[in-house]
Amino acid sequence: MQPLVGMELRELRQALGTDQPPYRARQLYEALYRHQASELVHISTLPVRTRQQLAGHHSLGLPEVAHLYESADGTRRYLLRLDDGRTVETVLMPEGERNTICLSSQVGCPVDCQFCMTALLGLERNLTAGEIVGQALLVARENRLRQDGGRLNLVMMGQGEPLLNLSNVLKATRILVDPRGFALSPRRITISTAGIIPKIDELGRESVRPKLAVSLNASTEEMRCELMPITRKYHLKDLLEACRRYPLRPWEKLTFEYVLLKGVNDTDQDARRVVKLLANLNCKVNLIALNPGAEIVYHTPDGARVKGFQQILSRSLPCFIRKPRGLDIYAACGQLQRSTGETAYEHGR
Ligand code: SAH
Repeated sequence: MQPLVGMELRELRQALGTDQPPYRARQLYEALYRHQASELVHISTLPVRTRQQLAGHHSLGLPEVAHLYESADGTRRYLLRLDDGRTVETVLMPEGERNTICLSSQVGCPVDCQFCMTALLGLERNLTAGEIVGQALLVARENRLRQDGGRLNLVMMGQGEPLLNLSNVLKATRILVDPRGFALSPRRITISTAGIIPKIDELGRESVRPKLAVSLNASTEEMRCELMPITRKYHLKDLLEACRRYPLRPWEKLTFEYVLLKGVNDTDQDARRVVKLLANLNCKVNLIALNPGAEIVYHTPDGARVKGFQQILSRSLPCFIRKPRGLDIYAACGQLQRSTGETAYEHGR
């Protein structure tokens, strides 16, 4: 059974067969992505016979909800089962009228960041474009989120390193921003990278692409090598150069994320070095106080330290503190490890 979700118009035309009029593929495309059909047989814009024919060789291909964890703060962590039985996580973070869905791009992650629990899974496989789009479709439908009202954001900051699965991430993005598809503004999709330099350049050459966030996480090469061993391959200096040459669109700014680890990278001196590193970049910084996890040796700095760090950065560039969401259900940044406990938040506090 070939999944339909993830197919672009051209592929849907093939799936339908050449004897079908071309508008059928458009109807199918709109049913899948714009109207988030929950079952193939329910797509009433297509003749019953066409639906039956399609169902002979194709599935809709949406992931299945294996488990839903709900946080006291309203965050929802979906444990989703894919076609091959593997599971991956997607997180919905409602905030007033605004909703953010955090998508995974890989099952597990091959990048070995020392403060991140997903790293402990290792890489199981890349997600297909359909599995990336499917996460958004499913969570949007389950929660009746409207994609065209301007209050929905997608971030590819779940499991995985999106730039190591770039072609599928790009294909998913094209479907998600297509006005006939999911119809989300490209300003409302962000991917975050640990710093895969050649892929940053490649992304910059794409005309349809999400916004870019870069996980900085250290103020020196030495410290970054320790926290993010991938720095040995993609040096900090080269990463920042790639950021400097990255072709931002007129409305766009780069985002840098900085995970604060108590007594490790959170001093005033670190903050001043970050300011220097980011000089002349059109960017903002999101600070994330470490979200704790079992097997993570680092500690969370207290609120005053985080504020102090922010103050120094704020003198030179926009700097925000990312509020942790869904800590009690292991849904926060760096905590996606398919935890199954109902309240898994005792560790590290
Ligand atoms: N692989 C990509 C996408 C993951 S995004 C990347 O590295 O950017 C997840 C964000 O959460 C990254 O900025 C990462 O540095 C941060 N993060 C990872 N572990 C964390 C933890 N334990 N606490 C807080 N933030 C964490």
